[in-house]
Amino acid sequence: MALGTASTRTDRARTVRDLLASGERSYSFEFAAPKSEKGERTLWNAIRRIEAVGPTFVSVTYGAGGSSREGTVRATERIATDTTLTPVAHLTAVNHSVAELRNVIGQYADVGIRNMLALRGDPPGDPMGEWVRHPKGVGYAAELVRLIKESGDFCVGVAAFPEMHPRSTDWDSDIRHFVDKCRAGADFAITQMFFYPEDYLRFRDRVAAAGCDTPIIPEIMPVTNVRQIERFAQLSNAAFPPALAERILAVRDDAAAVRSIGIEYATELCSRLMAEEIPGLHFITLNHSTATLEIYENLGLHQRS
Ligand code: FAD
Repeated sequence: MALGTASTRTDRARTVRDLLASGERSYSFEFAAPKSEKGERTLWNAIRRIEAVGPTFVSVTYGAGGSSREGTVRATERIATDTTLTPVAHLTAVNHSVAELRNVIGQYADVGIRNMLALRGDPPGDPMGEWVRHPKGVGYAAELVRLIKESGDFCVGVAAFPEMHPRSTDWDSDIRHFVDKCRAGADFAITQMFFYPEDYLRFRDRVAAAGCDTPIIPEIMPVTNVRQIERFAQLSNAAFPPALAERILAVRDDAAAVRSIGIEYATELCSRLMAEEIPGLHFITLNHSTATLEIYENLGLHQRS
């Protein structure tokens, strides 16, 4: 057996929980569920480039339904079987009965996946539309955490929202529900993207003040084109810094300049966070690896591999 194979097996046997408990930082990359064959090829080009830097784990978002969900499961399984990477499998409760959720968990277990991200998900089509639980499903992420934990020896992550979940009406209930899902068995959390380090730090302090010490990994998404400024506002309630928007809009016709400003801002954000006691960084790639790899390199992290 090649040495590389042996060490990969050893690393995979170590869950994200084990790694964080040892005091090491986790560095990970997130891909989007592919929607077409062309999308799948783009995804795999990005996965192979990220594989070369040896991240702690990678993940693929769970699609809203049908073929994109199959694409998620297929890509996540292939990461487990055909690469040296550790996958963290996303799973959402949307439109799934408990039996279907168990079935997907079983498929992941069959290919040796031990880390999962338990999410409630949003109503398909309109993320802020009325949430209707499947009649035989689960209503909140905390229940999905319990279901996964009951199904086997999994390490489970959950979502965190440094600027409060868009559906929460006040901080007290938001933090209470977050802590509930940690107490349901979550081993770590990954945040929604944000642009001000203070938002992450305040959220972390609120969670700690509620008596919860679950590690919360900040999620970073660099702006690489002007369209994303609007898209960010639609996809998340993350406050976009007006000064950053101004700098980007001033060079809007120069794609390379826009990208360079976005990478510079994200690198600074990561540096500020790394000066604090963060458990790691999770980068959104949008299936294009180059911007996040540049940030990774700017931070000196590529030397880890
Ligand atoms: P929950 O923790 O269930 O919370 C949802 C809302 O309900 C919150 O306002 C919470 O305060 C409230 N709540 C919780 N429990 C209770 C209770 N008992 N009573 C009353 N209110 C309660 N979406 C996808 O579709 N696919 C993905 O792959 C995906 N990946 C993501 C990865 C990350 C890192 C993040 C941050 C988000 C991701 N999402 C994904 C989006 C996520 O599914 C949505 O943001 C969803 O709205 C919230 O999911 P949750 O797991 O946080 O839900």
